[in-house]
Parts: sequence; structure tokens; C-alpha cells
Amino acid sequence: MEQQRVLVIGGGIAGITAAVDLGDAGQEVVMVERLPSVGGRMLQLSETFPTLDCAQCTLTPRTVETGQHPNIKLYPYSEVVGLEGEPGAFKVKIRKKVSYVDWDKCTGCGACQEKCPQKVTTNPYERGVGIKKAIYTLSPQAVPNKPIIDPVNCRYLNKGKCRVCSQVCPVDAIDYGMQESFVEEEVAAVIAATGFGLYPIEAMGEYGYGSVPDVIDGLAMERMLSASGPTAGEVMRPSDGKEPQSIAIIQCVGSRDPENHKPYCSRICCMYSAKHARLYKHKVHHGIASLYYMDLRCTGKGYEEFLQQSTEEEGLLYMRGRVSKIFRDGDQVVVWSTDTLSGQPVEQRVDMVVLAMAVVPNPEQAELARILGIPVDANGFYQEQHYKIGAVDTGREGVYMAGCAQGARDIADTVAHASAAASRVQVFLSRLARRAA
Ligand SMILES: Cc1cc2nc3c(=O)[nH]c(=O)nc-3n(C[C@H](O)[C@H](O)[C@H](O)COP(=O)(O)OP(=O)(O)OC[C@H]3O[C@@H](n4cnc5c(N)ncnc54)[C@H](O)[C@@H]3O)c2cc1C
Ligand code: SF4
Ligand code: SF4
Repeated sequence: MEQQRVLVIGGGIAGITAAVDLGDAGQEVVMVERLPSVGGRMLQLSETFPTLDCAQCTLTPRTVETGQHPNIKLYPYSEVVGLEGEPGAFKVKIRKKVSYVDWDKCTGCGACQEKCPQKVTTNPYERGVGIKKAIYTLSPQAVPNKPIIDPVNCRYLNKGKCRVCSQVCPVDAIDYGMQESFVEEEVAAVIAATGFGLYPIEAMGEYGYGSVPDVIDGLAMERMLSASGPTAGEVMRPSDGKEPQSIAIIQCVGSRDPENHKPYCSRICCMYSAKHARLYKHKVHHGIASLYYMDLRCTGKGYEEFLQQSTEEEGLLYMRGRVSKIFRDGDQVVVWSTDTLSGQPVEQRVDMVVLAMAVVPNPEQAELARILGIPVDANGFYQEQHYKIGAVDTGREGVYMAGCAQGARDIADTVAHASAAASRVQVFLSRLARRAA
């Protein structure tokens, strides 16, 4: 029987794991990633709980393997816009977004980024931390390591003046007139591994609707702590670039609040909040790190020990309390809460606040689910066919899911889920082959 190809949508650690598993098993894979490089959220992380090893050291060998794998055909900076046909014989339509750089010519030398005069502080990937240029790659370890131009901020695309990148590019790769294009691929099965986003700070009225500059979310904290990130690992307040001498980390923001926000527990925030506080203390030795929590839910292997070490050896201050209001006063941030153990109101003034926002599906997930013909649950995550015995099945034959697109989980659980999806695809393809025989 002819080789059956598998479409993997999303190149985070879930998509990468499923694609490499399938590729190693001899299966051809088409991977579509909406960003210019693979790696997903893990590419934004600093060090990872519970081992505190560098995220890039774990991730880079896998992203490189994905980029070089003879059985994986990668479509970076692309999106799935249509799926027709039936299980075993799908036709997928892919939109290749406009990078303004001819990646076939580009050697990834970096000269354009270095010389581009346009500094941008609002790049969504960096979450308001540090500076990117108007032509940029996601990270120095990006796979592929090819830049895109940000059309909103590029001087030439907006005002018709500049062209510096085009002048310094040694291989004439800049193409300001590039148009989007579409390709079609035939695949037998699909794995949707489109990951997650964070609930927007702007949804939190009581925390200033995102208008207090020194209140950031967990991913912004990761970018600051990351050695290869925009501040080279230095913790800086967004308002003035100063090192915060005290921070407050608020857990469960938007999670476990069925009346106003999301009803579910985001599962990873207790652990990454403890990690943030520890990494902050490793950088600012005399700094004060306070954490506000409802309960501490650290249920993975080695997680309780990580938490114990955080409180006993690292001097973190845990306060059981629900925060009612956050506001700016002078150059500090004021946190009002009630200590739920003593019942007393507490006011704390700190230099910076980190909100552990609820994990939510990416906004485009509903539309992709419609294209794939699969259901989503009440919170917008892909709906598994059976909670216990069908956790990667969508209910549509030939279409599977992996990772945080189904619900919040840490890296270890994501990788296990993705390998399970790869295995289910192989079962499906074997059945197809038997039917055809
Ligand atoms: C602040 C923070 C800190 C964390 N720290 C840790 C930690 O220390 N240890 C740990 O174990 N876990 C940690 N995690 C959890 C970890 O990030 C996730 O477990 C992991 O990223 C899940 O991988 P994923 O592939 O499912 O999703 P993602 O990493 O979100 O990857 C999904 C990919 O799909 C792409 N995509 C989305 N939609 C589309 C589309 N329509 N078409 C094409 N591509 C698409 C995205 O661009 C992305 O590349 C942390 C999470 C956060 C928020
Ligand atoms: S043309 Fe745009 S991307 Fe190129 S150097 Fe100028 S501002 Fe930067
Ligand atoms: S200068 Fe040209 S070759 Fe070098 S990274 Fe930029 S676009 Fe690619």
C-alpha cells in the first residue's frame, strides 16, 4: 500500500514529539506551525520545574531533529485553512503567511536584524519584555532560523523609507512585495497539537485591566528569566528597567472562579509560580518573594519535594489569601488581600507583581476545530472521546489531539499524551492498510 502521510498541526513539544515518533517509525509527516519556528511555549521558557534544567537544552535537540528529519516536511509560518475528504484520504489546504523574506535564499546570517533601525517593544512573542527589531527571528536557537518582517512596525512597509535590511542582505532575500500563497497536501490522518494561551490580564478588572505597568503575566516572567531572552536573564521592572527588590506572585488568577472567569484548575501554575520565585531569588539574593495561593496542588512526581524545598530552603513567603485589588501607588504596586487563615486584611507594597493567569485554548482553536470537524468542550479545549480510555481520540476517525490543546498539563504529561496520539495514529493506519488488503 502507498505510504500514508500524517498531518501534525502545531509545532510545540506535543507536535514535535508526535511528529518525531511517527517519523522514526517510518511514517511521513507534514507539520504546520503558525509561528516562524517550532518549539511552542517551551521556546519561551527559562528553566523548567521540577528539575530546573534549561528549557532550551531539553528542547533544542528535538527542534533540530524535527527540522532535519527526512520524514518530516515542515510548513513554518503557515496555517491550515481547509480539510476535505475522509479519514484515510484527506486533502488539507495550507496558507503560507507573508514573511517578506525569501527563506530559500536566506542563510540566517542575522545581518538584517542587527542593522534594522526599528526597535519594537510590543512584539507579542516577548510579551512586552525587552526589545525586538522590525525584522526578527523568535530566538537565537530558532528552527528554522529565518527571520520575518513585522509589517506593523517596519518603516519601509509603513512609510516607504528605509530598506536597510534589503541593503545589508548578502543574498538579496528581502521581498517587500511578497504575497501569501496556498498549497495542498494529501494526508491520511491528523493530529491537532495547537497548545494553549494565557487568559488576558485585560480581563481582570480588579487587577487594573492590564494598565499597571509592573504587573506582568507568567510568560513575561519566563522571558525575563530566560538566559537567551530579551533581558539576557535579568529581572527588570517594565516601568523603569530597575531590578525589583520585592515581588508578589498571585496564583489561580482567572482559574477556579466559575462565576467570573474559568471554572477549572490550570494545573501548572502552583509549580511554575514556585519556580518563578526560586529563580527570582537566585538572581536577586536579598529580594523578597511572596506568593498568594488558594491551595497548593503539586501532584506530579517530585513536585511536592520541589515545593518543600522552595519553602524550607529558598525562603519563599507563602500567604494563603485571595487578592481583591492591585493598584499602582507612586512607583510601587499595592496588593490588597485577605489572609484566609487568620481572616485579617493584608496590604503589601512590592516592586513587581506576577500573575499566574489561567491556561486557555488559543483563540483560533474553535475555528480550527470547525475545519477539522471535531468538538470542543465547554471551555474551548478539544473534547476527548472518552476521558479515561480515549484521551487522544476526537471522536472523528483519523483525527487525534495532543498536549495542552485538550487541557492544561506540564511538559512531562504533554510528551506522554503526544506519544499516545502518535501510537493511535499508527493503529488507525494499520487498520486502513488491513481494510485495503
Ligand atoms: C509561564 C509558564 C511556565 C511553564 N513552566 C513549565 C515548567 O517549568 N515545566 C513544565 O513541565 N511545564 C511548564 N509549563 C507548561 C508547558 O509550557 C506546556 O506543558 C507545554 O508548552 C505544552 O506543549 P504543547 O505543545 O501542548 O503546546 P504549546 O507549547 O502551546 O505549542 C503549541 C504550538 O501550536 C502552534 N499553533 C497553535 N495554533 C495553531 C494553528 N492553528 N496552526 C498551526 N500551529 C498552531 C503554536 O504556535 C505552538 O507552537 C509552563 C507554562 C507556562 C504558561
Ligand atoms: S525595511 Fe523595515 S525591517 Fe527592514 S531594516 Fe527597515 S524597518 Fe527594519
Ligand atoms: S541578512 Fe538576508 S540572509 Fe541574512 S538573515 Fe537577513 S534575510 Fe537572511
